[in-house]
Amino acid sequence: MNRRKSLRSLGLAALGMPLLSGKLKAENQPEIPTIPNRSSTLDPVKITKVKAIYTCPHGIELIVVKVETDTPGLYGVGCATFRQRAHAVIAAIDKYLDDFCRGRDVHNIEDIWQTAYVSSYWRNGPVLNNALSGLDQALWDIKGKLANMPVYQLLGGKCRFAVDTYSHGGGRSPEEAAESVLAKQEQGFRHVRIQLGGYGATHLSDAPDFKNAGFGMPDDNVMDPVAYMKGVVRMFDKVREVAGDKVELLHDIHERLQPMDAINLIKQLEQYRPFFIEDPFSPENISWFPLLRQQTSVPISMGELYNNPHEWIEPMTKRLFDFIRIHISQIGGITPAMKVARLGEWFNIRTAWHGPGDVSPVGHAANAHIDLAVWNFGIQEAVNFSPLLQEIFPGSPRMENGYMIINEAPGLGVDVNEELAMKYPLPEKNNYNWTQLRKRDGTPIRP
Ligand code: MG
Repeated sequence: MNRRKSLRSLGLAALGMPLLSGKLKAENQPEIPTIPNRSSTLDPVKITKVKAIYTCPHGIELIVVKVETDTPGLYGVGCATFRQRAHAVIAAIDKYLDDFCRGRDVHNIEDIWQTAYVSSYWRNGPVLNNALSGLDQALWDIKGKLANMPVYQLLGGKCRFAVDTYSHGGGRSPEEAAESVLAKQEQGFRHVRIQLGGYGATHLSDAPDFKNAGFGMPDDNVMDPVAYMKGVVRMFDKVREVAGDKVELLHDIHERLQPMDAINLIKQLEQYRPFFIEDPFSPENISWFPLLRQQTSVPISMGELYNNPHEWIEPMTKRLFDFIRIHISQIGGITPAMKVARLGEWFNIRTAWHGPGDVSPVGHAANAHIDLAVWNFGIQEAVNFSPLLQEIFPGSPRMENGYMIINEAPGLGVDVNEELAMKYPLPEKNNYNWTQLRKRDGTPIRP
């Protein structure tokens, strides 16, 4: 037994013995800064600065919050990534949260969350929620460092040895999609999401009449809902034929269909036993769920666009879907996400936190810490960080045999190399293209 463990087992931490001196370093773990001896880990630790750190190494804007304290070397980082409005989130952090938080005690996460939440009076929007998430996750990171424990331990400890994931497969044709599933299985994945090209299979659409008429903007995309629906059924059929029944298949409708079309498509997919179908409706169409539930037993995943508690409380307590798919930084961080997870436990709704490329490695680690600790974990999106991203964010989660593995460093276990991050500034011009989608006549479609 090493000295650190023996001190803890003797209960000397409670007597004020320092546990945080020295450095911890292991494979895939960032070097944890040395924190000077403290008389007690519960002495007030004041916030001295809250700031945004942003970087765009692969064309995706990533934002994290760094919370600095009056204890030399003690800081935390949290994910505040909302790439579509990056500059607005940065302003919310640097111009408001910094000012609001200075002098507050890092120990009181719930108090800081609740007071920051109402500090704008108007609340529950994506910009302010992301800023709040960066602050909240950074405070959990700090609490872990003070307790000398990974955050999942503070959330109740492990409920599973690692985080099971699904990987993104698919292709521009059913045959390509089937090939991708075989390749993912080779890599050790048991769950694969299959899409036919991009969301909505826009490549299957005919020439966009609205462009010929000079309507819209030159870069706008076009989608033919019927071609998409027919193509997805053919894709599932081919994938089951080629890859068999052992693999779990997922698909994301991405709110792109009219509600009754989505219901019809899901009924047709039932025979292929999907693991879940994601976002059949836009949040604005939430009232269609009871009809969907009467028509099919296919498991449904919902909620990556949710920002406001009013969007998830009623459908969860009515068991209108099976997986809650919230993007954790969009609701304000670990603190509210744990409440959502606990709510789901009572109604047997499992978690499937949104985990795409526009979540920073810090945010993916936060997802995984919750995934390890809550009983009603469902599935997580796999990560695939480039060597550069791993250098900017030392300690990033990694994959092994289809599982996401996080390191055991105190806190969230991920740091940020500010100097390197700054070498990849945000782009001068904003890209709206991905969200701009129209029917053949030019009618905008929810993206
Ligand atoms: Mg989605």
